[in-house]
Amino acid sequence: MNTGQSSAVVLEARDVVMRFGGLTALDSVDVVVTEGAMTGLVGPNGAGKSTLFGVCNGLLRPNRGTVTLLGEDVTHESPQARARMGLARTFQQPEMFRGLTVRQHLTLAYRVHASRPRLWKDMFTGAGWRRPDQAEKERVSKLLDLLSLTAIADALVDNLPLGTSRLVEVGRALASGPKVVLLDEPLSGLDANEAKRLAQAFQRTVQEDGTSLLLVEHDVPMVLSLCTNIFVLDFGRLIAQGDPDTIRADPAVKAAYLGDTPIEGVSLEDGATPEAAGA
Ligand code: ADP
Ligand code: MG
Repeated sequence: MNTGQSSAVVLEARDVVMRFGGLTALDSVDVVVTEGAMTGLVGPNGAGKSTLFGVCNGLLRPNRGTVTLLGEDVTHESPQARARMGLARTFQQPEMFRGLTVRQHLTLAYRVHASRPRLWKDMFTGAGWRRPDQAEKERVSKLLDLLSLTAIADALVDNLPLGTSRLVEVGRALASGPKVVLLDEPLSGLDANEAKRLAQAFQRTVQEDGTSLLLVEHDVPMVLSLCTNIFVLDFGRLIAQGDPDTIRADPAVKAAYLGDTPIEGVSLEDGATPEAAGA
C-alpha cells in the first residue's frame, strides 16, 4: 500500500507472529515507521498493540518475522542494544526521581546516554549531583523549549499533574537524541487540554527535532488528527493501513470500533496542524 510518501523507513516490523500459549496475539503483522513523521498504530483493547510495541522495542521475541531498525535486522537484539542504536520508548507510568526538578530530570536522562559510566560512578560513589556541563545545558534547554516546559523547569517533579509528567516523560525519552520513539498510549487518562498539549509537543518533536514517532493509541480521533500513516489492528491482524481519510472511510475499521469511540477528527488549537486538523 502506497501512502504517497517516499520517505525512508526507520523501523519496520515484517510478517510478525507472536503467540502466548494458544493465543495468537499477532498474526503476520507488517508495520513501518517513516522518517520524520508520526505513524499511528490503533486498535480496540486486546488487539495486540502493546504486543507489537514489545516486539519492536525488543522486550518480546516474536515466533516469526523480523524487526529492522535503521536498515539493520535487530530481531535478535536486546532492548538495550536497540536503545543504543537510536530507539527510545516512553512509559505510561514513568518512575520519577522525587526531589529533582524537571530540568534536573531531563539532565539526568541525557547523562545516562551521554556519559553512562560517569553517571553511575557519581551515583554510587556519593559524588552526588554534579553541575551540568555546556552540552547538557544546551540539549536540556532545547528539550524544555520543545515541550513548552521552560516555565516549570525548576519545579519539582514530585507532584506534577499527569499531563505534565507525560511531557517530562517524553522529554526523558528524547534526551538521548533518538531517531525513533515508541509511545504506548501516551494520551490515556489525560483531559482534553492535556491531550492537546501533548499532541502539539509530538508535532513539534517531529517537525523541529526530526524524530520519527510511533504512536500506539486507543484514541482514534487523536491519531487521525496527528498521524500521516496509520495501521489498524484487530484481534492480532492488520485490518487497514493508510492516511487518515483512508482509515476514516474503511468499513473494517468502522466495524472494529462499532459502539466504541466515534471515528472523527479532533482539532488542535492554534493552527498547530493546519492540514491534519481541518481534514
Ligand atoms: P492491546 O495493547 O491492543 O490492548 P495487547 O497486545 O496487550 O493488546 O494484548 C493482545 C492479546 O494478547 C490480548 O488477548 C492479551 O490478553 C494477550 N496477551 C498480551 N500479553 C500477554 C502475555 N504476556 N501473556 C499472555 N497473553 C498476553
Ligand atoms: Mg496496550
